[in-house]
Amino acid sequence: MCGIIGYIGPRDVSSVLLGGLKRLEYRGYDSAGLTIKSPEGLVTFKAVGKIAELEKKVGGGNLKGDLGIAHTRWATHGEPNEINAHPHLDAKGEVAIVHNGIIENYYALKDFLTKEGFKIVSDTDSEIIAHLIQKFHNGSFPEAVAKALELIEGTFGLAVIQREENKIIAARRGSPLVLGLGEGEMFIASDVSAVLDYTKKIVYLNDDELAIVERDGYSVKNLKGEEVNKKVYEIKWTLDQIEKKGFKHFMLKEIFEQPEAVINTLRGRVKEGKIKLSLDLDLNSLRRIVIVACGTSWHSALIGKYLLEKNTDIPVEVDYASEFRYRDPLVNKNDLVIVISQSGETADTLAALKEAKAKGAKTLGIINVVGSTIAREVEMGIYSHAGPEIGVASTKAFTVQVIDLLLLALFLRQEKGLKPEKTIINDLEVLPEKIKEVLKQSDNIRKLAKKFVNCKNIIYLGRGLNFPVALEGALKLKEISYIHAEGYPAAEMKHGPIALVDKNMPVMFIATQDGTYEKILSNMEEIKARGGEIIAIINKEDKRISRLTDNIIKVPSVSNELMPIINAVPMQFFAYHVADLKGIDMDKPRNLAKSVTVE
Ligand code: GLU
Repeated sequence: MCGIIGYIGPRDVSSVLLGGLKRLEYRGYDSAGLTIKSPEGLVTFKAVGKIAELEKKVGGGNLKGDLGIAHTRWATHGEPNEINAHPHLDAKGEVAIVHNGIIENYYALKDFLTKEGFKIVSDTDSEIIAHLIQKFHNGSFPEAVAKALELIEGTFGLAVIQREENKIIAARRGSPLVLGLGEGEMFIASDVSAVLDYTKKIVYLNDDELAIVERDGYSVKNLKGEEVNKKVYEIKWTLDQIEKKGFKHFMLKEIFEQPEAVINTLRGRVKEGKIKLSLDLDLNSLRRIVIVACGTSWHSALIGKYLLEKNTDIPVEVDYASEFRYRDPLVNKNDLVIVISQSGETADTLAALKEAKAKGAKTLGIINVVGSTIAREVEMGIYSHAGPEIGVASTKAFTVQVIDLLLLALFLRQEKGLKPEKTIINDLEVLPEKIKEVLKQSDNIRKLAKKFVNCKNIIYLGRGLNFPVALEGALKLKEISYIHAEGYPAAEMKHGPIALVDKNMPVMFIATQDGTYEKILSNMEEIKARGGEIIAIINKEDKRISRLTDNIIKVPSVSNELMPIINAVPMQFFAYHVADLKGIDMDKPRNLAKSVTVE
């Protein structure tokens, strides 16, 4: 999910690789490494943390070589440490690989290799690729790579070198990879920005293509070995545009990355209608679940409460981490405390986790950053594979937290002997496509944002599973546009907030159809009767709400359990466009930090 750069040519290889890695830094990473083919064989350096640490280890200019590969890692399997950092080599030091992505069938392949006597030294899914290629290398290096890839399920952007070979092999499935074409030199990169200092001529690899890259040329084949003719593109973008993939801000890019984040989070976890999670939980002794989180994660926790209670019949409580830790919480060994944090470093959540552990509760983490402090402290966990989130306002991390909570709910249900409902499993499969449909609404939502950009307050209302989405929508708006916004359960409106409603107080309704639809309609009528302006998120089939307002955002239908994800996306867009129209840099809103490491 992070960065790859490879180089073959006359320049100083380590400088090109380190320079390329620095260009990839904006993507976020936890460790880095490089391997150079030198006259002495493959020489590898790895470091945890910043590229500067790796640079110190490599030292200045003495490392001679013809070619090399380098990597910034965003861990998905195994914590960020030097052993787990890429490149990974086979035991004989013949093959080195760097890999972006996730190998889905890694446990099966690891078993297979271990039985054959291969020694796997890291906790990563990636290392097995190096062993497989070495095992199959029997004459043709590219064929050995192709053979290994045949066995791999999952995603990869991959660059491979071999001790005796003056070439780099690159291949992709699901993770981006490009070739940069120079004069007498060639580059491989996960992202154009890494090579733009040297060349603007780019070849984009497609899925299941394999490139053989030499100093003076390259060829691309599909995995059947057939030659593929590739178009060469001349890049005209600036570096800044490329880092943001052409999006104006990281937040917007991350909103658009949600379909991919969902695919990555589901990868390997739903198979033939069954949920696969490796959790060690004794349901018989489980009395209660307590979910503890802060900010956006607290909102996904509220959705999790609905999902878990519905599927497991176990009572669930949700608490702010900062409140939980200071009120001498009543938890014990029969409770499961779930902590949710994107960064895995949130100070209040970490402190709450320690409190729960001290009281003997079982603990489970839903964390995006592998190997982070909370991820290490919990007894068990479900990583959310959103990839790095750079924008301060969380978008894709929220979405995958909800997915993780649903997977957990369905898993516990399955442990109780009940199958997940077929419609949910089917809808999980089509969810990325459904999110893509919502992404098409961006321009339409910008028009609405223009209309409301000058308002001072907005109320967000939703019911049931969509009440936490209303809270999240309001939080998104206030944190990046500085407009005061409040979320409420729609029915609570008449117990207070309705007093605020007049023509200057727009009300955003989440009005997609579920069991509370009729009630929401009545709530809307009440607002309209008081002169309030309604904005409504509705199902695209809905015929009734357009009579009440012109400010409509249409979304596709999925199972109720997944509607919070679909409905959160327009909220993200609305907040984004309002902030952008106000000229605010919402990637770095005032007074806020991405990872709140103070209590
Ligand atoms: N799944 C691999 C790992 O955890 C690659 C991660 C990445 O794309 O950086 O090492």
